[in-house]
Amino acid sequence: MRRLAILGSTGSIGEQTLAVAASFPDRFRVCALAAGRRIEKLAEQVRRFDPDVVSVGDADGAAELRARLPGARAKIVHGAEGLAAVATHDADLVVAAMVGAAGLRPTLAAIRAGRDVALANKEVLVMAGALVLREVHAHGVALLPVDSEHSAIFQALAGQRREDLARIVLTASGGPFRTWPAERIAMATAQEALQHPNWSMGPKITIDSATLMNKGLELIEARWLFGASPDQLDVVVHPQSIVHSLIELRDGSVLAQLGLPDMRIPIAVALAHPERLPLDLPRLDLAKVGRLDFEAPDRSRFPAIDLAYAALRGDEAAPAVLNAANEVAVAAFLAGRIAFGAIASVCAAVLDRHLARATQAPLADLENVLEADAWARAEAENGLRERSGDHGCEGAAR
Ligand code: NAD
Ligand code: MG
Repeated sequence: MRRLAILGSTGSIGEQTLAVAASFPDRFRVCALAAGRRIEKLAEQVRRFDPDVVSVGDADGAAELRARLPGARAKIVHGAEGLAAVATHDADLVVAAMVGAAGLRPTLAAIRAGRDVALANKEVLVMAGALVLREVHAHGVALLPVDSEHSAIFQALAGQRREDLARIVLTASGGPFRTWPAERIAMATAQEALQHPNWSMGPKITIDSATLMNKGLELIEARWLFGASPDQLDVVVHPQSIVHSLIELRDGSVLAQLGLPDMRIPIAVALAHPERLPLDLPRLDLAKVGRLDFEAPDRSRFPAIDLAYAALRGDEAAPAVLNAANEVAVAAFLAGRIAFGAIASVCAAVLDRHLARATQAPLADLENVLEADAWARAEAENGLRERSGDHGCEGAAR
């Protein structure tokens, strides 16, 4: 029986993780849950999975959850301490499925408590990859990728010698604006950007998939998960989302992992590692798919890819800066404060300013990471204020 703690249980990944766990009740016990504000959904999960501890965003949420669960066995906690309690609970595997920078502290707490981690919350590695990897090694825990591309690479690498790896190629669907001209992308609405062609996901990653910043963040995630240099990392656009990523070995052989786009597969790979679960899901029928297309990403219509490479080649703080600026810009876009095209330009301006003042000092601890994050958020907010009035007339390129 593998005991699971889930950070972000009410989100897209959280719910799909619970669905996989529920299909194999003799293999998994859900012992701890944490979520932000969706109290009703969380109450349902508590009734169904009977965890030992549940954490919600704040004290009001905790009071509401208690009121919805009279006589519940679960200990109900909240805030940063609540997240830490879930992250360090007596579980075998912590599923990090929160979104954004908020997941960094609890994920580090889980690693420091010696828990294996299944990581969906890619921003954790983008912000603090060096620090997280140091802690992973110091505590001898496993860090298992949930992101479909990284799960594909992880699966393709199984049985290979690390020194034989020449290149990693991440596939990208291209998002909803793959074929749109730059002028139309610049003015895209939130509703248009939230329509992902192949995946149903939380709002932040869906917007990131439309800008291709998601692929940029995934390049940085791959750098840390697989110890690859920026020169070894590549992106190819593959609109069908059937090939989830590829590795090239030094003899020129290329290995890929394929499957229908369904996050329950990479989630199951991480939950059961090194075993495989007999998932009851539709099977890939290549004859039915018919064709698989590939094209180079258009870096001028989607500048986020180059921003990620620039951050990768910058100092250790640069990815944290890019991530924070992006979180602020995406939230501003979803709130109607800026045009779609301004997301990348806000990020570019903040990253440029950082790189111009960067000291190349490594990020020694969490405080350094959080300082870089806070600096970038303040800079991005300044950028947004300067832009107010521009709404709707911003170009996609910087
Ligand atoms: P989501 O928005 O659907 O869910 C986020 C979850 O985190 C929710 O349960 C929310 O309540 C919780 N949360 C957010 N802030 C919190 C806080 N401060 N305290 C406590 N809980 C908080 O997001 P998602 O689509 O499930 O994505 C989660 C992560 O997985 C992201 O980093 C995303 O990039 C990554 N990911 C998602 C998918 C996908 O298919 N959805 C695929 C690959 C990677
Ligand atoms: Mg992905």
